[in-house]
Amino acid sequence: MMLRCVLCGGEDSDGCEGCGGAGTVTITQCPREAITPDTYDFIRLADWADEKILPCGGGVLDQSAGFMDALRYFRNVQNELKADDGKTA
Ligand SMILES: [Zn+2]
Repeated sequence: MMLRCVLCGGEDSDGCEGCGGAGTVTITQCPREAITPDTYDFIRLADWADEKILPCGGGVLDQSAGFMDALRYFRNVQNELKADDGKTA
C-alpha cells in the first residue's frame, strides 16, 4: 500500500523525515501492526474531543500543546484520507 506522505503532503521535499523526499510512504505490513497502543489511546482521546470532552480539565487552552498539535495533525490526516477516499497519491 502506498500513501501520500502526511509530513510533507506528498511534495517532493528533500529531507522529509517521513518519506526521504519521495512524497509517498510504502506500507508493506498490515497497517494495524504499525499502530502502537499509545496511538490507539490517542485516537480514543481524539474521539472524546469530538464530543467536547478533553483529556485535561478546563478548556482548549488548558490542554497540553503536544495534545493539541497531535489532534490538529490527526485531523489533517483524516481529512486528507477522506478527500482521497483512500486512493494512492
Ligand atoms: Zn514526506
